[in-house]
Amino acid sequence: MYADLQGKVVIITGAATGIGKAIAKRFAEEKCKVVINYFSEEENPEELLKEIEQGGGTASIIQGDVTKEEDVEAFVKFAHDTYGSLDIYVNNAGIENEVPSERLSLEDWNKVLNTNLTGTFLGCREAAEYMLKNDIKGSIINISSVHEIIPWPHFVHYAASKGGVKLLMESLALEFAPDGIRVNNIAPGAIDTPINAEKFSDPEKKKGVEKLIPLGYIGEPGQIASCAAFLASEQAGYVTGTTLIADGGMTKYPGFQAGKG
Ligand code: NAD
Repeated sequence: MYADLQGKVVIITGAATGIGKAIAKRFAEEKCKVVINYFSEEENPEELLKEIEQGGGTASIIQGDVTKEEDVEAFVKFAHDTYGSLDIYVNNAGIENEVPSERLSLEDWNKVLNTNLTGTFLGCREAAEYMLKNDIKGSIINISSVHEIIPWPHFVHYAASKGGVKLLMESLALEFAPDGIRVNNIAPGAIDTPINAEKFSDPEKKKGVEKLIPLGYIGEPGQIASCAAFLASEQAGYVTGTTLIADGGMTKYPGFQAGKG
């Protein structure tokens, strides 16, 4: 737990499921005021809200699409109107789909780039504008992926978007450092969330993924939420422009484990 997080206002995009949901719960446990952005009613954001409130936490929900400028602007206005501030913004919303690249449609390319890269840009821009205007030394955290480093055939739009988020984050961190606004990424490896539900329901595919992880197991969303809490806290006060990789060692060339290779 990080005492300095108490009372901080945080927006998390795509927060009704998976990693975003775990981050919302963790910040609520840290006694932050949490704005949960959700995309569709099917994700049942009310259940998450109820869970947080029953645990003594403070949260509100707002529907919206991170690819729409007016929606992202509305998230920040909502945080200000509801809780009077914005201290932490987590760009978590993201999508992927598998397509051999020679058949990748412009529509799919645009959808993934718009959500993962443009949505993150809009979130960073709106959060930074608010923090600058209100002299808030805030923290912006983007959930990128190990695919900001590892190339990924059949998911080239996803890899391109996450690679883009890496240099977006690094450039913004430089730009806003004089104002005390820190910008960082978290790069998860394979985490057990709805985005992987189909893949991990197939024992063979799951085993194939586990082989790529030196620690030997698929990560839990709460392990990524711990990274977000740390990065937002004063304990990470000197950390900006960096990617915190939480991947069980996946980016460390697992083929070379045990001296092979
Ligand atoms: P998820 O599918 O549960 O979460 C993605 C969330 O984004 C969903 O709630 C979805 O509704 C929301 N979303 C999608 N499009 C949106 C839009 N236009 N506007 C607002 N919200 C939108 O999967 P997850 O694993 O929790 O993914 C969260 C983030 O973590 C993503 O950015 C993903 O790329 C990243 N990530 C996940 C893994 C993993 O193994 N699970 C690994 C690396 C990175």
